[in-house]
Amino acid sequence: MNIGILGTGMVGRTLSAKLAHLGHSVMIGTRDIDKTLAHTEPDSMGNPPFRVWHQQNPRIKLGTFAEAAIFGKILLNCTSGGGSLEALKMAGETNLNGKVLIDIANPLDFSKGMPPTLSVSNTDSLGEQIQHAFPQVKVVKTLNTMNANLMVNPALLSGDHDVFVSGNDPAAKAQVADFLKQQFGWKSVIDLGDITTARGVEMILPIWLNLFGVLQTPLFNFKIVR
Ligand code: NAP
Repeated sequence: MNIGILGTGMVGRTLSAKLAHLGHSVMIGTRDIDKTLAHTEPDSMGNPPFRVWHQQNPRIKLGTFAEAAIFGKILLNCTSGGGSLEALKMAGETNLNGKVLIDIANPLDFSKGMPPTLSVSNTDSLGEQIQHAFPQVKVVKTLNTMNANLMVNPALLSGDHDVFVSGNDPAAKAQVADFLKQQFGWKSVIDLGDITTARGVEMILPIWLNLFGVLQTPLFNFKIVR
């Protein structure tokens, strides 16, 4: 399947690499191809420059956000929360319309330092803002509650643990739940309801960040015991 990944950070890279490894045709999208390839230094998290990663993953096509949106039969939003609406505007509404958009972004605001705050919460969410701005896109919020390596390989942790889906279109949510199971091996996918339930999974981020600090590893996840 042709898959369009919007975002060149660790999430976009990890998902692209896994999906290409599984045999899909993947295009990763960015704002400006030349600028993205021009970076020569690791990012603030120590990740290698994009060009180095891309040389190691030559099967993955690189395009603009618009080119990746046109290319993908299914799309994944892996852009920074503060830039997601802008990135999707650059992708082009007509290129997005009618498609399933898996939204992994978190509305983290680092402008006042660490820890980040949420730029939207309580009565709204980034997932809802995206759905509102692009009403003909089938937005499904998922995977945002864990580290990128776990998204594509839940077996990194022993035992059952959970991934959530939120969205207005039941068929799109079912398709995404199936995608998570078939491609990445997820066993427990919990459908929380419509896109307003993205509020809860975005507001879980402060707890995730606390746990990251205490556990000193990003390899943990939420497990719902019932
Ligand atoms: P990131 O650094 O948060 O985002 C990088 C991407 O955002 C790049 O493609 C960049 O475009 C784009 N971007 C940044 N500002 C923009 C703007 N103003 N307008 C348009 N595009 C903009 O990368 P990440 O760490 O991979 O995270 C991606 C998303 O997943 C975030 O929302 C994050 O909160 C969420 N998330 C991350 C993890 C994780 O393990 N890191 C886990 C769960 C959820 P260029 O390519 O042009 O630079």
